[in-house]
Amino acid sequence: MKLLSAPSKKNDVIILGGGSVGLSLALMLLNQGLRLSVIDRRQDLPWIPPAEFDTRVYALNPQSCALLEKLGAWKYLDTSRIGIIREMEVFGDDQGHLRFGERSNYLAKVVEDGAIQSALRSVLQAMYGQSWFQVNEVHSLHLNTSDISIELNASQSLSTSLLIGADGAQSWLRQTLNWEADRHDYRQQGIVMNLSCSEPHDQIARQWFIDGEVIALLPLGGNHISLVWSAHQDHAQSLLALESCDLVDALRSKIGMPLGPLKALSPARGFPLQLVKVPKIAGERCALVGDAAHGIHPLAGQGLNLGFADAACLAQSIEERGLGPDVGDQSVLRRYVRRRALPVSLMQEVTDKLHLLFSQNTLIVRPLRNMGMNLVNNIPFLKSLLVSHAAGSTER
Ligand SMILES: Cc1cc2nc3c(=O)[nH]c(=O)nc-3n(C[C@H](O)[C@H](O)[C@H](O)COP(=O)(O)OP(=O)(O)OC[C@H]3O[C@@H](n4cnc5c(N)ncnc54)[C@H](O)[C@@H]3O)c2cc1C
Repeated sequence: MKLLSAPSKKNDVIILGGGSVGLSLALMLLNQGLRLSVIDRRQDLPWIPPAEFDTRVYALNPQSCALLEKLGAWKYLDTSRIGIIREMEVFGDDQGHLRFGERSNYLAKVVEDGAIQSALRSVLQAMYGQSWFQVNEVHSLHLNTSDISIELNASQSLSTSLLIGADGAQSWLRQTLNWEADRHDYRQQGIVMNLSCSEPHDQIARQWFIDGEVIALLPLGGNHISLVWSAHQDHAQSLLALESCDLVDALRSKIGMPLGPLKALSPARGFPLQLVKVPKIAGERCALVGDAAHGIHPLAGQGLNLGFADAACLAQSIEERGLGPDVGDQSVLRRYVRRRALPVSLMQEVTDKLHLLFSQNTLIVRPLRNMGMNLVNNIPFLKSLLVSHAAGSTER
């Protein structure tokens, strides 16, 4: 950390990172009347929906959907492009089968990354213009007694009561503060790609656990689906090197043709998968939210859902201070830390243990896990627990 000259502008909050989590938090805090700036190194370009869907899509649980609704962002989404997951069907690697969900309700809605960010920006723009946002990068920060100062490009400096890192998995803020991140590399990549299917997906998300890998097909609008294939590193490299139609063939050889012939609509992209535990997520007038604060395996599709819940929790913790301490006060941050500890570690444990369970290929574990799936499939109470977990109702 380095000492700076007198800052030019005082904010209550600066959010570093204007991805979905940073933008949602910005909106919640601006709605509280706080003075706020969001800094992102990316240009704020208008989002033009690609004809064949954004390759990055997220299964948002009902809580995240309700948050976007409450913030006024949902009305900016094109509902014809949104996939609804009413049921989930999971296949083991030895006759194990599990199906849960209710037709009358939904487990999640599948929304494009670009669409979420564009919808949040539209609300922010309509309510607060553009002055809250700047394209920039932070070089250094200095903690003073009553605030924190940051230095940006072109020798510009800003001061704030609270600096929030919503700057993703490689968080600059987390690294600069030397807040540790315990990483476990899954040695897998999440390969994502959009496809069209010739038979209706029936609003069912399908997932296969095969050879220690996980293949998920998520319904999108119309007859489109999104593939998320968590593949071992070497296998992922070879899959990513294939022509799209050959990748579809490789997929068919694993899962058959549950939705009839599939056609690739986009090139595949790969993302490294890691479990990232961050023991310290707040303190000294700084806090982390979203992927800056945690990383999980995407097999349960919950990373962004956790991030939205972080944002809602931090905004609530700030609001609850009333006329009391300033927004960067330790008591506010401690409340945030306390509330997020259990939901985040629970989700990390569940996804990590599920991944571990299906990576073991011993003669004992394999039949047991498949029996376990069939057992759960026949116990309504356990199935409704699964539904509430998938729907995010364990979040608070
Ligand atoms: C294969 C795969 C599938 C997934 N599927 C799901 C799913 O179905 N459901 C779900 O809930 N989650 C899912 N996730 C998780 C989800 O992708 C992340 O949790 C989510 O995108 C994190 O959002 P964020 O806003 O925290 O970070 P990001 O989206 O990474 O945003 C970070 C922002 O910070 C900016 N930034 C970074 N560093 C700086 C800097 N130094 N200066 C200025 N700006 C900076 C970046 O430009 C970016 O705009 C999936 C993940 C993977 C890999």
